[in-house]
Amino acid sequence: MRRTKIVATIGPASRDPETLTAMVRAGLDVARLNFSHGTRELHAENAKRVRDAAGRVGRQVAILQDLPGPKIRIGALQDDTVELKPGEKVVLACGSDAVGNEHSMSVSWNGLAGAVDPEDVIYLADGAIRLRVSGVRQGDGEIETLVEIGGTVASRQGLNIPGSMRGLAAVPHEDLEMLQFGESIGVDLVALSFVRTAEDVTSVRRHTRLPLIAKIEKPQAMAAADEIIRAADCVMVARGDLGIELPIEEVPMAQKQLLRIAGRLARPSITATQMLDSMVNSRRPTRAEVTDVANAILDGTDAVMLSQETAIGSYPVQAIEMMASIAEHTEHSLPYRRWNEERVRRDARDPAYTVAYSACAAARELHLAALVVPTLSGRSARLLSAHRPQVPIYALSPGRETVRRCGLMWGVQAASMRKHETTEALIADAARRVVELDWVKPGARVAITAGLPSGRPGTTSLMQIQRV
Ligand code: PEP
Repeated sequence: MRRTKIVATIGPASRDPETLTAMVRAGLDVARLNFSHGTRELHAENAKRVRDAAGRVGRQVAILQDLPGPKIRIGALQDDTVELKPGEKVVLACGSDAVGNEHSMSVSWNGLAGAVDPEDVIYLADGAIRLRVSGVRQGDGEIETLVEIGGTVASRQGLNIPGSMRGLAAVPHEDLEMLQFGESIGVDLVALSFVRTAEDVTSVRRHTRLPLIAKIEKPQAMAAADEIIRAADCVMVARGDLGIELPIEEVPMAQKQLLRIAGRLARPSITATQMLDSMVNSRRPTRAEVTDVANAILDGTDAVMLSQETAIGSYPVQAIEMMASIAEHTEHSLPYRRWNEERVRRDARDPAYTVAYSACAAARELHLAALVVPTLSGRSARLLSAHRPQVPIYALSPGRETVRRCGLMWGVQAASMRKHETTEALIADAARRVVELDWVKPGARVAITAGLPSGRPGTTSLMQIQRV
C-alpha cells in the first residue's frame, strides 16, 4: 500500500470521464479544481465527473477547491502575447481594461499604484520577466517601469511583487463567493492562495467548516509560517509563486522548513508545482524530477501534487503512475523509528497525542498488522498519520466528508462505518469492518484507538490491542 498521497489538478487534459477513471485507477487521491481558471459550470461538471470516476473505480477521491486569493493579473494583450525587450519602458495601468501592447498593459488591481515605490521589482511570466519601477503616477493610477529582463508575456498572466501587497485584501470577496459555490458542489478541502498571516486563515474560517489549506507562497508567510500552519488544517508548499517571491535558490530549504513545521504541528502537507514538469510533453520525467519527488517524501510531505502535468499535459495518467511508483519505492527508506519518536511535538494536555504515539510504538514492538482508528472528525487519524507508523492506518467514520478528507493524510485509508453509542460496540464493529473490507486478514493483531465516551469528537483516550 502506498502511503504518500497524490493530488492532481483537473483540466482540459484530464476532464474526460475515461481519462479521469484511469487517473483514479492509477492512484489519484485528491482532485484539485483550480479556481484561478475556468467557469463555475466547468468546475461543477468536473467535480461531478471526479465523483463518478471514483464511484466507477470504487476508490475514495477528495475534491480540493483552490481559491485564487489576491492574485494580481495583467489584462488582455494584442495578439494574446507581447514581447518585452530589455531597456524598454512599459506603463502598467491599474484597474484599466484597455487591451495592452509592448508599451502599456492593464493590471487587474486598481490599488497597485499605491502599493509600489520606485526601485521595486515586478515579475511577469512566472518570474521570467523582470520590470523595475521607475516612477509612480498615483493620480492616474499608472506605474512606469523599465524592462530589466525581457521575454514573452501572455494575456491575463499573473504578476508578482515580492514582499509587497499593502492595501490588497487578504481574502477577496470573490474568493468567499467561490467558497460558497464550492460548498454547494460538495468540495472536501479548500486551499487559500497568498496567505500572509494566521488572521488570513482565521478570517475565512468564520465562513466555512471545510478544512483549510494554507498555501505558503509569500516571504511574509514564510516569516509567520508557524502561526499560519497552526491556524490552518493543512499546508501547501506552493513552490511556483514561492520561487518568484523568494530568491529561487531559497525554495529547497523553505520546503524543508515548512514540512518540518507541519510535522511538528501534526498538519498534513502538500508539496506542489513542477514535480514532474517535463511530463507535460514527455512520457518520461527527468532524473532530477524523480529525485525531487523522492526528496519531498523524504522531507516528510503527506502528498505530492501535479499541476500542468495533469491539467494540460499529454500524459496525465502516466504522471500519476510515475508518482505512485516513486512514492512506493522511496517509502521503503523512510526513517520510521525516528519519525515515530521525534516528528510530532506531543501536547501534554491532550491524551490523543499520547495514544497516537503509543499506538505507533505498539505497532512496531508487537509487529501489529495495522492501526484501526474509528474517528468522527478525522483528528485521531491525522495524529496517527503525523507519527508516521510503518503499518497502514485504517480510519472508519460515520461521516462521508471525514472519510474523503482522510484522502490527504499520509498512510491513511478510510471507509464508512455506523455510529455507535458505546465504546465496546464501536471497537467490535471496527474490528469486524476492517476484515469485511479485506484490509486485515481474520486473526491478525491490530491496535484500535477509540474515544471515551464514544460519539464525541476529540476524546480519543483509549487503545486496545486485539486480534480481529
Ligand atoms: C504554486 O504557486 O505553486 C501553486 C500551487 O499555486 P497556483 O498553481 O495557484 O499558482
